[in-house]
Amino acid sequence: MSGLRRRVASVRLRGGDGPQVARARRLLDLYLAEAERHGVPFPEIARQVRAGLPALRIAGAELQGQADAPAFSEAACAPGCAFCCILAGEDGGVILEAEARQLHAALAPLAGAPDGRAWSDRACPALDPATRTCRVYEARPMICRTYVSPDADACADVARGLPARGPGVVGAQGTLLAVQSLGRAALEGAAQVPTYALARIAAAAVEGVALDAALGSARHRPRVLEDERTRLAPAD
Ligand code: SF4
Ligand code: SF4
Repeated sequence: MSGLRRRVASVRLRGGDGPQVARARRLLDLYLAEAERHGVPFPEIARQVRAGLPALRIAGAELQGQADAPAFSEAACAPGCAFCCILAGEDGGVILEAEARQLHAALAPLAGAPDGRAWSDRACPALDPATRTCRVYEARPMICRTYVSPDADACADVARGLPARGPGVVGAQGTLLAVQSLGRAALEGAAQVPTYALARIAAAAVEGVALDAALGSARHRPRVLEDERTRLAPAD
């Protein structure tokens, strides 16, 4: 077993191992074991973990498995319903490096066109203000893919800053963050594993800011990932 797999097995996250972290640990180990079998060198594995590729593969598979779950089959979500794209504050939510790069690449060619802020000043810059649909749907990050609601009025309340029951992310976003937290802890001292603010990356891209500068301006303080992971963690 490689040193990185041993680190993944032994690192401790804030709050200990609830079911989500325990499962994320097993699945990240499987990813690393597969890479080991294929002879992938450590620098490449570290790059993949830093970018969030294991987390995205694991959470993506979980999300696919939830396609028929009531959260989706009973959701009120429809094209043009976009209260969930009105973002809280300047941050907009936690995304991983691969997601930030993909979002920037998809939005950069649209720089200068009217964006979501022409509809609502706190809307995501990736939104089309006329159709209220996502202009980069295929490149949207996991936080957008996992956010659903049975009631659009409740989403409108959340967008106004009012408390509401119903809207929120399904478990795959929590899994994404748990895998990334484990990867970050396991790579401590060898590589940094940053996260980014969705709203800042999107705004920088549509304002014509180059990728490296956009990543620099949208990079989170380290504690943001752990704060968000523990906020989303299901009760034991
Ligand atoms: S999460 Fe809410 S605002 Fe977004 S599409 Fe679904 S119902 Fe509409
Ligand atoms: S990336 Fe697309 S789906 Fe996500 S908040 Fe922005 S406009 Fe909405």
